[in-house]
Amino acid sequence: MRVGNTIYLDHQATTPTDRRVLEQMMPFFADAFGNPHSADHILGWNAAQAIEAAASNVAALIGADSDEIVFTSGATEANNLALLGLAQSAVNGKRNRILVSATEHKSVLATAREIQRRLGFTVELLPVDVEGALSLKALKDKLSDDVLLVSIALINNEIGTISDITIIHELLTEFGAVFHCDCAQAPGVVDLKMLSEHVDMASLSGHKMYGPKGIGALFVRHSLQDRLHPIIHGGGQQRYLRSGTLPTPLCVGMGAAAEIARSTVAEVTPVLRRRRDRLVNGLGRLRWRTALNGPDLANRHPGNANVRFDGFSASDILAALQPKLAASTGSACTSGIPEPSHVLRAIGLSAAQAEASIRFSVGRQTTDQDIEDAIDLIDRALSKLVSGGMEVAV
Ligand code: PMP
Repeated sequence: MRVGNTIYLDHQATTPTDRRVLEQMMPFFADAFGNPHSADHILGWNAAQAIEAAASNVAALIGADSDEIVFTSGATEANNLALLGLAQSAVNGKRNRILVSATEHKSVLATAREIQRRLGFTVELLPVDVEGALSLKALKDKLSDDVLLVSIALINNEIGTISDITIIHELLTEFGAVFHCDCAQAPGVVDLKMLSEHVDMASLSGHKMYGPKGIGALFVRHSLQDRLHPIIHGGGQQRYLRSGTLPTPLCVGMGAAAEIARSTVAEVTPVLRRRRDRLVNGLGRLRWRTALNGPDLANRHPGNANVRFDGFSASDILAALQPKLAASTGSACTSGIPEPSHVLRAIGLSAAQAEASIRFSVGRQTTDQDIEDAIDLIDRALSKLVSGGMEVAV
């Protein structure tokens, strides 16, 4: 996939909105524009119906019911609602500990820290192994009946580690702790139809699944809904769990994207895997020393490759590649902040190794030609850096 002359290998930062999705959204901007919460006229009813259909599509993606879906502005808000919402309603209860893995997205980590500061809960980070897999032993050791919530992502956004949520769920059930799973990176790359059986809450993001930006969703299991305190107050539009007029076109877009992700995952996954493997193997054949961070190719997000170019600075490489190739150092959300990725540090990399690492993520429209050209461009960028004396000391 190219945008002008730029090869796009940053699908885990964001995906283009699928044209079929965009088409379904368009009527709801200027034509069927009624307020979906206007209960007194046909324009309102039509918008409400479109939103209900969208919620059903999102629910079908994860095997849930449509009234277990709360639309939000994105996965960041969904994560905030899940963690803060549950903690707010459990203040002064006997469960006063929250466990999160060390490699969670900042929207989980920062929210957990805020809960500790503001509401007095104890937040504990769970360690991961070199592949980013949660230490089940640490989880078992820390679990007891004073744990309110455990938050573990299904797929890590930087190194593509896939969590074993079945085992985690079993462990938590024994202690009655709530399981929240950040699934922002999962639609379209793993089959989610059983998800609702293994988690109590799950966060999704429209723009990571070929839907629009500015929309996301939180799945909240029926039995948990009266334990979740809203974080946005107002007209109570979504069963009082989240107030605010729903953005009909964005909800419709998320629903359409969910439907495509659900129905195409089986055919898309092997294609992503083949292209991603071609990239990693191609880079490995170059004369530069490269290494794959995180799990082996067979056991990670099929489109993710986090590659270390020892002796180089990832930001120098990406700068040298502009404007021809888009990929990222660490996660896009922390890019710009001069600190090594907390995910790469948590799997045991040194700061220098973390700063030498680039995340490439292939998508549905990535071609073999994109991959071959990317390998060639990276080879030339590295040569240029060496001859320009910009190589970093190992
Ligand atoms: N969680 C994960 C795992 C993510 O990758 C992201 C996006 N970087 C988010 C949450 C935040 O999603 P959004 O951009 O929809 O707020």
